[in-house]
Amino acid sequence: MNKKKNRGSLIVLSGPSGAGKGTIHNELLKRDSNLTYSVSMTTRSPRDGEVDGVDYYFVSEEEFKKEIEKGSFLEYALVHGNYYGTLKKNVDDSLDKGLDVILEIDIQGALNVKEKASDAIFIFIMPPTMRELRDRLVKRGTETKEKIIERFKNAYKEVNEISKYNYVVINDEVESAVKKVQAIMLAERCRVDRIEEFDLNNQEELVHELLVDFNK
Ligand code: 5GP
Repeated sequence: MNKKKNRGSLIVLSGPSGAGKGTIHNELLKRDSNLTYSVSMTTRSPRDGEVDGVDYYFVSEEEFKKEIEKGSFLEYALVHGNYYGTLKKNVDDSLDKGLDVILEIDIQGALNVKEKASDAIFIFIMPPTMRELRDRLVKRGTETKEKIIERFKNAYKEVNEISKYNYVVINDEVESAVKKVQAIMLAERCRVDRIEEFDLNNQEELVHELLVDFNK
């Protein structure tokens, strides 16, 4: 009867630095074996504990620009003074295998993806309050004061772009935020436009046979 499209769905998570996108996507990956994460490429230096090829592909600006020229990116953007980009091939390979792919990218990147993949699901992760966001950025202790201020200012700009997204999830508590994102993904999988067209001819034949049966 109705067949689900074999290609996976693209899920775009954005939100200000410190909103908790990373924690949420890690939890989602643990709970859903059909979900995969697209590792981005960046010119930012690795933070303590970050692993090349797992958290990001860490490259020089020169290497990144070569990839731009080669057309390797689905999208890329300059964020907080560094380049970040999503590798097109990685995303396509996973989607073609029927896996859902999660991207954790900034708003400029999300808007670029929207132009190329309008059927992607755009979810904005919000911190409960701007004060809480500032406290999280400070507590994380991974950035200099100047970088924290830059990220905090950007956060305010980003929150004003929320209307470009399909969904918003307030991350006041990780478990409930994860459940909300899972619910969104589940609902999206049931959308009529994600189901291949019904084979109407077969249906007509079958309905006809069933009607004939009534008259027997
Ligand atoms: P961070 O340096 O904290 O890991 O990431 C900084 C910002 O860059 C975050 O908002 C994150 O979502 C965004 N980002 C990470 N990877 C990509 C990417 O591939 N493309 C874009 N446009 N943004 C990204």
